[in-house]
Amino acid sequence: MATQRIRDFLATRRPEGPCMILDLDVVRENYEGFVKALPQSRIFYAVKANPAPEILRLLVSLGSSFDTATVAEIEMVLDAGATPDRISFGNTIKKERDIARAYELGVSLYAVDCVEEVEKVARAAPGARVFCRVLTDGEGAEWPLSRKFGCVPEMAVTVLRRAHELGLHAYGVSFHVGSQQTNLKAWDRALSDASKVFRTLAKEGIILKLVNMGGGFPTRYLKDVPSAQAYGMAIFDSLSKHFGNRIPETIIEPGRGMVGNAGVIRSEVVLVSKKSENDKLRWVYLDVGKFNGLAETMDEAIRYPIETAKDSDEKVPCVLAGPTCDSADVMYEKTPYPLPISLTVGDEILIEGTGAYTTTYASVAFNGFEPIRSYVI
Ligand SMILES: *Cc1c(COP(=O)(O)O)cnc(C)c1O
Repeated sequence: MATQRIRDFLATRRPEGPCMILDLDVVRENYEGFVKALPQSRIFYAVKANPAPEILRLLVSLGSSFDTATVAEIEMVLDAGATPDRISFGNTIKKERDIARAYELGVSLYAVDCVEEVEKVARAAPGARVFCRVLTDGEGAEWPLSRKFGCVPEMAVTVLRRAHELGLHAYGVSFHVGSQQTNLKAWDRALSDASKVFRTLAKEGIILKLVNMGGGFPTRYLKDVPSAQAYGMAIFDSLSKHFGNRIPETIIEPGRGMVGNAGVIRSEVVLVSKKSENDKLRWVYLDVGKFNGLAETMDEAIRYPIETAKDSDEKVPCVLAGPTCDSADVMYEKTPYPLPISLTVGDEILIEGTGAYTTTYASVAFNGFEPIRSYVI
């Protein structure tokens, strides 16, 4: 949210154009909140949420580890000062030469979700540790991750067995319950599935060590969300329930929950109009949209809080749209957004909770609009 530091920065620096300003103090608090909530778990920050070097350097200094998806992300994390033992190559879809490069850089922990990927890792990263991702239904998540990643638990057994046969270290199981997951129980089913994979393989003498519980921890948008503490307690209960007194090594990979509430987008109203004289609905066009920062408004999935200087005035429903010449560049139309009736061209607005999945989740230069600028303070 807009902290005093962010407000002071905007007031004194008056940056030009639309921008995202992120307060590192909030990231630090979030990190400390996760440590407190899940003291037994290692934290692997999901770099894709926001790979700004300042964030990576702060998290390196706080002791975090990192979940990465590409060689480029691995290099960013190494440049920020992390050693390769703090990096996991968590993408289940990797080119063999990228695995080889990661291995050369010292990374020894890899995600897989099928036998074909295990075979690539065995060739390109001999002896490495692998964990197999299992599918979850993503129910309860505002930004579900669908069936693109993971396999059913029965197949995870086959995948990890194959890893063992190929001389890899069959290390554990992972899952992701879906992003912005507000249901505390979502981790329970996945942990139950994971424990079955552990037990089946143990009977064959393959002893798994790790459960990677993924991300999904929510940030606050318009509705309150449970605290990290509440998530920590629910997860600990499920771990005890399914693993008894043999609780494995665990890691979490928060992305949104680590940086979402640390950032604010400052935008400007470019146009306010109607489609006919009697139209009740106003169209408000901003200098940011789906292509330069607000991609997660796709299907109106994520609904950001918006602050204006006129919030004490009467509010009317508005369609909120971006500046490009693409009709997909509309953020909220199915459910219009209440904005002050007095809002007008040139007014500044703050879009809150935009620290995650905004700055790099944007087009390069669609229609000549620059990617959104980022200031990390
Ligand atoms: C994107 C991603 C995350 C982060 O998810 P959040 O919902 O932002 O916490 C964690 N792990 C993996 C493997 C991911 O792809």
